[in-house]
Amino acid sequence: MLPAVARARIRRSSVLLPLMRRFVLKGVMGVTTPWGVYIDDEVDWESERGRRLIRHELEHVAQFNRYGTLRFMYLYAREYLRNRRAGMMHQQAYYNISYEAEAREAARELTV
Ligand SMILES: [Zn+2]
Repeated sequence: MLPAVARARIRRSSVLLPLMRRFVLKGVMGVTTPWGVYIDDEVDWESERGRRLIRHELEHVAQFNRYGTLRFMYLYAREYLRNRRAGMMHQQAYYNISYEAEAREAARELTV
């Protein structure tokens, strides 16, 4: 049985992402959860930015599938907390999580 995220669909979000921008991470336009990928309503999926954002989120789907949902969430949170303990501020700690770097690289390499 594949993890739930393997069957993830990409959905529009007009609620989740504004809440995340306000309370979790400034500027975030997409998020991958164990139950699906959400892309902000403002993003044009056909634009280069939209395609790279979706590629970024699909890399997170691959990470969920590689490690399993709970293990991936644990590894991701552990890296964030390590970064915080190393003295990084919230945004920097998030940015330096290796899984985020991997997703950024996948998005950068996308040919659009
Ligand atoms: Zn990411």
